Amino acid sequence: MPESHPMIGGDGTYSYTKNSYLQREGIKYAKGLIDETIAHKLDIKDLLSNSRSFKIADLGCSVGPNTFICMESVIQAVKHKFQSHGLTEQIPDFQVFFSDHTFNDFNTLFRSLPPERPYFAAGVPGSFHGRLFPESSVHFVHSSHALHWISQVPKEILDKSSPAWNKGRIYYTGAPDEVGKAYAIQFAKDVDIFLDARAKELVVGGMMVLILPGIHNGISHSCAVVNVMLDLLGSCLMDMCKEGLVSEAQVDSFNLPMYVPSPKEMIELVERNGSFKIERMELFDPVPGNEAQILRSGHAWKMHFRAGLEGVFSKHFASETIDELFDRFPNKAAEKLKATLTETTLLFIALKRK
Ligand code: SAH
Repeated sequence: MPESHPMIGGDGTYSYTKNSYLQREGIKYAKGLIDETIAHKLDIKDLLSNSRSFKIADLGCSVGPNTFICMESVIQAVKHKFQSHGLTEQIPDFQVFFSDHTFNDFNTLFRSLPPERPYFAAGVPGSFHGRLFPESSVHFVHSSHALHWISQVPKEILDKSSPAWNKGRIYYTGAPDEVGKAYAIQFAKDVDIFLDARAKELVVGGMMVLILPGIHNGISHSCAVVNVMLDLLGSCLMDMCKEGLVSEAQVDSFNLPMYVPSPKEMIELVERNGSFKIERMELFDPVPGNEAQILRSGHAWKMHFRAGLEGVFSKHFASETIDELFDRFPNKAAEKLKATLTETTLLFIALKRK
């Protein structure tokens, strides 16, 4: 059974629905990139030679509203392509598969589906680190802010006798190289499995757009703001450990199952897999300039993290420990944010099934 850590469901204070602002900024920026990709790279005629409906899958859709925004963008861009080729009459029906882990809050997702949506909706439960659809049945795959979740924490970072033992940390930032390497290897395995599954499911010529946190080539993992912030969260937990509020063994045995790759790493993984052609890849900052001020707030980071990470923490720590941890975090984060430049980088990748 693969590990699964859905975002906080419902629409409460810490829900993903209410705390996915930062991801939404990324999605808004990526809309332009998706439009261009579909306009210039998607071959609508070949793609639909055997089908009257255009099937789109959003992998790691969570609870909305972000997934609805993404799906509308993709559909608008495809419709526009038909219109601009004088093929308005041939615009197909659209079917959207909202897919996420079984424990995702699909009830909230379906209850908030836009009433006037231009597509037929279906839910597909399961991990994207495996097959989700029949062979050659999907035309377009979208996945945002999800592929950086690895399927499991690498075993060796929990092994006291291994040089990769991640003592006193919850993530690989600031850890010995062996820890970062173990994470990178797990990510590489997961991406390969992901690409193999999608290669089977997408029709030839079908496309896939991936948006995930990324770091610039050749810089240390500790330079990415999101990694700095995760490191700080770990250090809050270590403070609690020193005060006897949580045991050292509990902290040592907990690690976050996430990895932030560079473009170079992604290119190598896609090329090694061999099933996809890279049509476009770039890093972008979704909240450049003044708008990044929001990210200078420790509270904003707390809400962002809590909505996404509470699920992982709650499998390991008592709820009082989690409350205390997230209460401590904003002050420590605020201090750091005064000094650190808040560039948040996302990686955009458009792939075509060969
Ligand atoms: N796409 C939305 C939501 C991202 S939240 C947006 O951009 O805002 C990340 C989602 O990825 C979570 O709902 C989580 O459950 C899902 N996820 C992570 N790993 C997954 C996996 N292996 N299979 C399916 N979903 C996964």
